Amino acid sequence: MKKILIVEDDQAVKKLLETAFREYGFNFVLSENKKNAMMMFLTHNPDLLIVDLGLPDGDGKDLIKEVRDISKIPIIVVTARHDEKEIVASLDKGADDYITKPFSVNELLARVRANLRRNIDGEKLKETITCGELELNLPSRNISLKGEILKLTPIEYELLKYFLLNTNKTLTHKQILKEVWGAGYQNEMQYLRTYVNTLRKKIEQNSTRPNYIKTESGIGYRFCCGFLEEK
Ligand code: CA
Repeated sequence: MKKILIVEDDQAVKKLLETAFREYGFNFVLSENKKNAMMMFLTHNPDLLIVDLGLPDGDGKDLIKEVRDISKIPIIVVTARHDEKEIVASLDKGADDYITKPFSVNELLARVRANLRRNIDGEKLKETITCGELELNLPSRNISLKGEILKLTPIEYELLKYFLLNTNKTLTHKQILKEVWGAGYQNEMQYLRTYVNTLRKKIEQNSTRPNYIKTESGIGYRFCCGFLEEK
């Protein structure tokens, strides 16, 4: 059974999370502040962390950093407002995903499942990765769509590979540029936009209404599989 550590001081949200996780058979532990959270993290060894950014004794982002320094578990941020700066800062500190209040239980559970799944997948060293009708074959460096190998430039391949290795995860512009283009390219937003557009033309049925590469306005992109993550 998967164990989730919830760090949240808002009573209404806490109740909602407790009810949802109990109903769907997740094991969970709760902390209302940052200090206790780190202790609970070390004692309970959770599979996933949900953290509110505004905690009574500090900033949830500091907790993200502390946990990320010692662990690779999925971290989902819960934030009160759709504050792009805060979200980007959390993702850059190592969070995997975010959800804004108020959110629905279904939305939260979809995110939790997607993040747990990715963590399991990440542990196995697989040769092929599939996402919807896309398949990445790592040894041959081929990516196919509906069984047909896509003609990709080296950068397009690297970008699509990075997306396929990080599906259902919100990736900031900075993260993608750093991982695909390398350090020093973090601010070259136009590169990224251009390549996302060409990739969309190659993989999306309708590149103006993409199903795979979703834009997270002001934040970055999320690569979706199977269209399950629709809000
Ligand atoms: Ca709070």
